[in-house]
Amino acid sequence: MTKHIFVTGGVVSSLGKGLTSASIGLLLEHRGLRVRMQKLDPYINVDPGTMSPYQHGEVYVLDDGSETDLDLGHYERFTHSPLTRDSNYTTGQIYLSVIEKERRGEFLGKTVQVIPHITDEIKECIHKLAGDDVDVVITEIGGTVGDIESQPFLEAIRQFALDVGKENCLYIHLTLVPYLKAAGELKTKPSQHSVGLLRQIGIQPDVLICRTEREMSHDEKEKIALFCNIPLKAVIEERDKDFSIYEVPLSLLDNRLDQLIVDRMQLSGGRPDLAAWQDLLHRLRNPRYEISIAVVGKYAEHRDAYKSIYEALDHAGMAPHLQAQIRIQPIQSEDIERDGPERLLSGFDGILVPGGFGERGIEGKVAAIRYARTRKIPFFGICLGMQCAVIEFARNVLGFEDAHSTEFQKDTSHPVICLLDEQKDVTRKGGTMRLGGQDAYLVPNSLARQCYQSETVRERHRHRYEFNSHFRSTFEEAGVRFSGTNADQKLMEILEIEDHPWFLAVQFHPEFQSKPLACHPLFAGFIQAAIQRRNHREDPPEKP
Ligand code: GLN
Repeated sequence: MTKHIFVTGGVVSSLGKGLTSASIGLLLEHRGLRVRMQKLDPYINVDPGTMSPYQHGEVYVLDDGSETDLDLGHYERFTHSPLTRDSNYTTGQIYLSVIEKERRGEFLGKTVQVIPHITDEIKECIHKLAGDDVDVVITEIGGTVGDIESQPFLEAIRQFALDVGKENCLYIHLTLVPYLKAAGELKTKPSQHSVGLLRQIGIQPDVLICRTEREMSHDEKEKIALFCNIPLKAVIEERDKDFSIYEVPLSLLDNRLDQLIVDRMQLSGGRPDLAAWQDLLHRLRNPRYEISIAVVGKYAEHRDAYKSIYEALDHAGMAPHLQAQIRIQPIQSEDIERDGPERLLSGFDGILVPGGFGERGIEGKVAAIRYARTRKIPFFGICLGMQCAVIEFARNVLGFEDAHSTEFQKDTSHPVICLLDEQKDVTRKGGTMRLGGQDAYLVPNSLARQCYQSETVRERHRHRYEFNSHFRSTFEEAGVRFSGTNADQKLMEILEIEDHPWFLAVQFHPEFQSKPLACHPLFAGFIQAAIQRRNHREDPPEKP
C-alpha cells in the first residue's frame, strides 16, 4: 500500500516548501524507498505556461512537454521521481476537468459542488501517483493555509486519510518561527495560529517543520509542541541556510526527520548514506577557482526567472573535475542598450544569454553576443539566446543589416528566425509551441559532441520560432557549424562558431536536465572554457 505525505505551509509564502518537500523525497529515496513527487497549485491558471516570470518565476518544462511550477525543478534535481503531467495540478485544471465532465452529462443531473465533486477530482489526481511500484507519494500543497483558494485542496487531503486510513497518511506543516529583535526571542504565536487554522478544518499536523533564523531552544520547542498538539520530537527545526540550499537535506537528516517519518508510517529502509551530498558541499566550500559569469536577460532582477539556469551553472561548478565557485551576475539586457557592452561586460569569464519571450531588451542581447563573439569570450546561448546569436551573426558577419526574427519584425527581408509555417495559428497562446523532450543528432568532431560524448541526445524544448533553414548554407560558408539537428535535419538544434574558443548556442533548454550530482555536459563545457579563459588572463604573456 502506497503511503502519502502531505506538505502544507503556513504563516507566510516563500518558506521553501518545494525545497523541503524535495529534501524529504531525497532522504526517503536514500533509504531505498520508491518516491513520487507532486505539487497541487491553488491558482486558477490551467498551467503556469501563460504566467509572467515576474509573477511566478520560471516555467519548468517536463520531458512530456508539461509546463509546470518551478518547484518541480527541485523535485527533479533532488530525487529520481519520474515527473509527468500528473505531477502538477492547478485549480484551473481541476475545475476544467469537472466542468467538462458536467458538460458530458457525467453527473447525472446532480448539482455539481466543491464538496464532493471538486474534492473527488483532487483526490483522483493524488491517487494517480500511487501504485504497487511506489512506496511514498509526497504531495505539496501550494499557497499558505488560510488562503481562500487552498480550501478545496486542504479539504481533499483531509478526506484522503478517511479514504485510505489515517495510518497511511502523514501531514507535515512548514511554518515560520520569527525572531523578534525587540523582544530578543523567537515567536511561536504565528505557528500556533497556523496550526489552529488547519485543525479547524480537521487536519492535525503530525510534524511541524519550523523555519527559523536562530537555533530553537528546548523550551521553545516544548512550547510549540504543547500549543500545537504535536509530540516534541516531531517539532523539527529548519534553520536558514546562508551558504547553500544543498545543506537542507543534510540538516533535516541531522534533525532526524526521515527517522520520524519511517517510524510513524511503518516504512522500512536503513539509515540513508548521504556521503555524495557531503562531498558535494565539501567541494562547494573549497573551490579551486573563482569565475564570473554574466547572465544577460530581460528578467535579470527577478531571482526565480532563470532559476534552473543559475542552478545548472552552480552544478557545473560543483563537478569534481571543475570545482569552481561561480559568481553569477544577472545583467539587464536593456542596460546594455543604454550603457554599451564594454561598460557592463568587461571582466567576465563567460557570457550566457538565456531564453525568453517578447521584444524588450533584444538589442542588448544581440550587442552582448557580438561582444562575446568578437572578444572571444566563452558564450552559451539558450533558446532565445540562440536565436539572438543567429540574428547577430546574420547582421554583423553576413551583412544582412535588417536580419531579425519574425517574432519581433514581421516584414524583415532576412527572416533568419521564423515560424516553421507562418500560416500556423499563433494567435492562440499556450499549446502552440514545440514543447518537451525531443532527440537531437550530433555532428562528429563538434564541440557539442565533445561535451556530450554521445551521438544522440534528448533535450527539452519550449519555443515557437526556429532557425530558417533557407539560410543554412550561407551561415555554414561563413564559419557556423550546426552541430545538432533533429532527425530529418530540418531543425537546427545547436549552433557553434568555429573560430572561437567556446561559442555554442542551443534551441532547447539544457538547464532542465542538470542535477547537483550530475551536471549537464554543456554547462560543464562552458564553465571549463570560462576557467581556461580566467587562467589565461591571469598568466601574463611570456616575454620573448
Ligand atoms: N520567443 C522564442 C520562441 O518562441 C524563444 C522562446 C524561449 O526562449 N523559450 O521561439
